[in-house]
Amino acid sequence: MRTRAPAEPEVREFEATVERVEDGADGPAIVLDETYFYAESGGQPADRGTLAGVPVTDVRDDGEYAVHELADAAAVDPGDGVVGVIDDEFRTYCTRAHTASHLLYGAGRRVLDDLGYGGFGIDAEKVRVDFATSTDIDDDVLVELERLTNRAVWDSRPVSWGEVPVDQARGRDDVAFNTKTEEGVMDDADTVRLVDIEGWDVAACGGTHVSNTREIGPVEVLDRSNPGEGLTRVEFAVGPSAIDRRASVRRAALDAARDLGTGVDALDDAVADLRAERDELEREARAYKSEVLGARLAALPTTERDGAVWRVGTVGDFGPNEVGEAAQERVGDGDADVIAAVGEGSAPYVVVATTGDVDAGDLVTDLTDEFGGGGGGGPTFAQGGGLDATPETVVAALRD
Ligand SMILES: [Zn+2]
Repeated sequence: MRTRAPAEPEVREFEATVERVEDGADGPAIVLDETYFYAESGGQPADRGTLAGVPVTDVRDDGEYAVHELADAAAVDPGDGVVGVIDDEFRTYCTRAHTASHLLYGAGRRVLDDLGYGGFGIDAEKVRVDFATSTDIDDDVLVELERLTNRAVWDSRPVSWGEVPVDQARGRDDVAFNTKTEEGVMDDADTVRLVDIEGWDVAACGGTHVSNTREIGPVEVLDRSNPGEGLTRVEFAVGPSAIDRRASVRRAALDAARDLGTGVDALDDAVADLRAERDELEREARAYKSEVLGARLAALPTTERDGAVWRVGTVGDFGPNEVGEAAQERVGDGDADVIAAVGEGSAPYVVVATTGDVDAGDLVTDLTDEFGGGGGGGPTFAQGGGLDATPETVVAALRD
């Protein structure tokens, strides 16, 4: 038969009679007349535990029966009485994690628009709930979802479940349908199982649930992502992984606050101040660099060609874009008519800014024709790079 786990989630040990024995992957696959093992369904994993003292590796619902896969060969025959023991730690974790997902969905009902159920899943470390919603779940919304969920834990809301006619459940617009779990409980039935967290959430669901929300303990939201169009996935932890995560976040916040000489509550302001200070320092550094670069360009040796004054020489420590900008600012205005700066190092760059009487683009084209590399530009500004010559050779070519 199907599992009685959703109806009586507190049972951890039971006696049953073997009805059928098949060949399983590693040992026999057994169907019992009655079982309290949960079969994997709707995002909640199968129970672990033992049957007749042999570890159970999987429990699956074959559409009609719960089939228990055993780890090793075991001498069980139809008609035998066996004892089933459900792994308490894992079931307790799954039950609390699962019910927490209903609380989170209930929190979503209070803060998200156009809400629909998108899916759910539990693994050993975390739980995910997919919200179909038009609301952008930003940091503030995420924190509010977590706050409301933990508040619902503290409020110690009773949780109850029972079968109602499918039509009646479908007619209620306050019922969330966990459609995947629902497949397991609705396909051959006229009734659907509703799980009601008093005053908070009602869902059609075939999983195992705590009987009071306070059993769930702390809920820690971990992350959010977008698994598909219109869906937002929120991942959270319960139990030891939630407690450990909270401790590590707390530690990081305290470390950061201590480094900044402030308290955790003032961390956001302290970071904003630090960022403003950094921006100001960056602005100052840029201004100083530009001053140094201007002085270097002003110190380049001059030469006269066809009545125009040229400044030509090498510049180190600065890239072609910075040099180009400074050269354009400087050229003319009582200074030289042409500024031609060559980068230091191998495969040098060249930057040419002019008042227009000398064509900068032609000049750079002449250089790349002679020395290779590439580049180009207009009459008043051009640059080239990757020249196959020493900087001194390029400077000499510009002086002639
Ligand atoms: Zn459920």
